[in-house]
Amino acid sequence: MAKTMKAAVVEKPNVLKVKQVPVPEIADQEVLIRVKYTGICGTDWSIFTGKYSADKLPLIPGHEFSGTVAQVGKKARGLKEGDRVTADINMSCGTCFYCRKGQKLMCRDFRQLGIHIDGTYAEYVKAPYDQVHKLPDSLDFLAGAFIEPLSCVIHSSKAARITHGSSVAILGAGLGVLHGALARQRGAAPVIVIGRNPKKLAIAREMGADVVLNIKEHQDPVAEVKKLTEGRGADYVVEAVGTPQTYEQAFQMVRPGGTVVAFGICAGEDTIQVRPFDLVLGEKNVVSSCAGVGPDWPDAIALLAYGHIKPQPLFSMIVPVEELEAALRELRTNPNLFKVFVSSDVSKREILSK
Ligand SMILES: [Zn+2]
Ligand SMILES: [Zn+2]
Repeated sequence: MAKTMKAAVVEKPNVLKVKQVPVPEIADQEVLIRVKYTGICGTDWSIFTGKYSADKLPLIPGHEFSGTVAQVGKKARGLKEGDRVTADINMSCGTCFYCRKGQKLMCRDFRQLGIHIDGTYAEYVKAPYDQVHKLPDSLDFLAGAFIEPLSCVIHSSKAARITHGSSVAILGAGLGVLHGALARQRGAAPVIVIGRNPKKLAIAREMGADVVLNIKEHQDPVAEVKKLTEGRGADYVVEAVGTPQTYEQAFQMVRPGGTVVAFGICAGEDTIQVRPFDLVLGEKNVVSSCAGVGPDWPDAIALLAYGHIKPQPLFSMIVPVEELEAALRELRTNPNLFKVFVSSDVSKREILSK
C-alpha cells in the first residue's frame, strides 16, 4: 500500500493545488476506498472561493463519489476489498439531542465528507463502515457518483409529500430536473420546470416535466405559473436555484394553502421579503431540506438501479484531477455543462454527452 497519494487540496481561498499527501490511515471501524469518480458540485466552488468551510482549510473537497474498497478496518463488518461502493457523507456525534431525535443533519458536531473533513478529489478516502453502501451490479461507477445528489433531492421530495394530481412548479433546471422527475413519479400533474438553458429544459422534459418555461422567453414566471393553474398558483413550488429573487418568486407563485419547498442554497447573508399577512391569510406552508441522509441513500440506489431515474443525459464529461480548477471555472461560464466528473485514473478529458 502506497504511503502517499495524489489529491486536490484547497490550501486557502482561491488556491487549489494538486499534490502528494499522506494516504488516510483507517481506524478499526473505517474502510479505505480507492476513489473512481467524483462529481463536481456547486458546493465545491463555494469551498474553493472561501465562501464556505473557510475555517476548515486546507481541505480536500469532493463528496459525490464512487470507488472500490481498498482496505477494511478490523471491526468493519459486511465489506471486503474490491467491493464497489459509495458512502453517506454525513457524520454526526450520535449522542446529542438532535442525534437522539433522529435529526442527524442538525447535530452540533455535524461533519460532511469533502465539506468539513477531507473528501474525494484524491486517490483514496476513508469512511466509517456503517455509512458505506455497495453498488448493485446494474450501477456503473458514474451512476454511483450520482447517488449523493439524487439522495438530496429524494430527501426534499419526502419532506414535501407531493400527492397525486398536484401541480408542481420547480424553479431551476439544474437539480430541478431531478425534482421534476420525482414529482412526476409521485403522481404530480402538471409538473412545470422553469429555467434559462434550452438544453437543460429539454432534458427536464425527457425526465418527466409536462411544461418547461424558459425565463428568457417568459420574463414573468409567476404570471406564467398562475396562467397554467387557473390563476391560483401551484400546489407546490420547489426553489432549486438558491437566490433571493427566486425564493420571493416561489412564495408568489404558490397557491393559498400550498407549499414552498426550500432546496436551493443562498449565501449566508441573503434575506428575502415575504409578507407574513399573505402567509397567514393564505395558509402557505414551507418545508426545507438540507441533504440526503440515512435511508435516502438506499432509496437513491434503488431508483438508479432499476432505471426509474436515468441520469446519463446529465453527464457531461470526465476530467483528470489536474483539471479540477479549470472545470470548476468552466461550470461557472458554460451553461451547457451539467455534471462533470473528476478522476485520478484518466489523463485527458472524456466527453460523455454534448
Ligand atoms: Zn453536492
Ligand atoms: Zn449529534
